[in-house]
Amino acid sequence: MTTRLRVLDDGAWISIDDYREVRVSELWRLDTDEFCTCDLTDLIVENFQTVGVDGSSVEVRVYGQCIACGASGTTGWIPVGRIHDGSFTELARSAVRRPRPETKKQ
Ligand SMILES: [Zn+2]
Repeated sequence: MTTRLRVLDDGAWISIDDYREVRVSELWRLDTDEFCTCDLTDLIVENFQTVGVDGSSVEVRVYGQCIACGASGTTGWIPVGRIHDGSFTELARSAVRRPRPETKKQ
């Protein structure tokens, strides 16, 4: 089974199997020390750069800004949800997300 993953509207949406599932302007909490020096990065998602899948985990790289310290930039791969039995379940908005070091994908 193949899952179709696309970035739409110049990075405004993530489309999964032709449904718009994840949009920008959300606030994500990241547990990373690569983006900024805050304990938890409070990231406003401004633009999706690319989307991929690692096993059943759907991951994106986003451009955004930490609202706590003002740092901005592009993140590593951040999980946004999972594919299970061919359908997508988004992570809870309040979930703390751990970006994966970008060694496996370009
Ligand atoms: Zn910060």
